[in-house]
Amino acid sequence: MIEVSGLHKAFGNLEVLKGIDMSVKRGEVVCIIGPSGSGKSTLLRCVNLLEEPNAGTVLVNDFEMTDPDVDIDKARRGIGMVFQGFNLFGHLSVLDNLTIAQRKVLKRDAEEAKSVAKENLRRVGLEEKINSMPSQLSGGQQQRVAIARALSMQPAVMLFDEPTSALDPELVGDVLGVMRTLANEGMTMLVVTHEMQFAREVADKVLFMDGGVVVEEGPPAQVIGDPQHERTQTFLRRVL
Ligand code: ADP
Ligand code: MG
Repeated sequence: MIEVSGLHKAFGNLEVLKGIDMSVKRGEVVCIIGPSGSGKSTLLRCVNLLEEPNAGTVLVNDFEMTDPDVDIDKARRGIGMVFQGFNLFGHLSVLDNLTIAQRKVLKRDAEEAKSVAKENLRRVGLEEKINSMPSQLSGGQQQRVAIARALSMQPAVMLFDEPTSALDPELVGDVLGVMRTLANEGMTMLVVTHEMQFAREVADKVLFMDGGVVVEEGPPAQVIGDPQHERTQTFLRRVL
């Protein structure tokens, strides 16, 4: 579903990704862990071409994102993304947040878009907030709405970039719970996270990144439970 090969990305003289190879199979959950500044967000942004790689190829859902002739809008339709901050449109109700792209991009009529929105709000446990404004919701609720909004586009894969990092500790669990349910339903997910317990329980595969390379990868019991590389061990000692 996602195949990244030989990916390089620099910002000016700063080499941020130094040859990344990684893949996510259909239905798999892959978690990326690693210290701040190691290039995790840049990798995720290269997957949907929010950043343009300097070298390498990125395949997502049969689209070659790095092909100059790719229909990038069409390719991105299959990719849902949830960021650390809450990226809801503040001036729009929850319903409008969930229907605007369905209507504009997928050309769904109002009724169909609303029914898809309702179904996805139900999935994240927030059906009763359909008429609320984002400012009336807690950070955790806003993040669950952001997940429901991404799901309303019926993506083939979901990318998460530290979706719980900006939340108060007591709100983290609800968001992780929604992500866990999605994983159990078979959603293909690539997740950057500092939640080691989540990665341990939900990931099929964990990648440890440091300094723009994948230092170590494998099942969570191996990478988190029994890391082989010094850099992985040092990182885990600090976060666990
Ligand atoms: P992580 O998500 O692992 O914390 P990032 O991918 O955000 O790491 O950043 C990796 C490095 O790239 C950092 O040194 C960061 O400052 C730099 N960087 C990220 N985005 C940009 C950008 N748009 N312009 C310049 N430097 C950037
Ligand atoms: Mg980041």
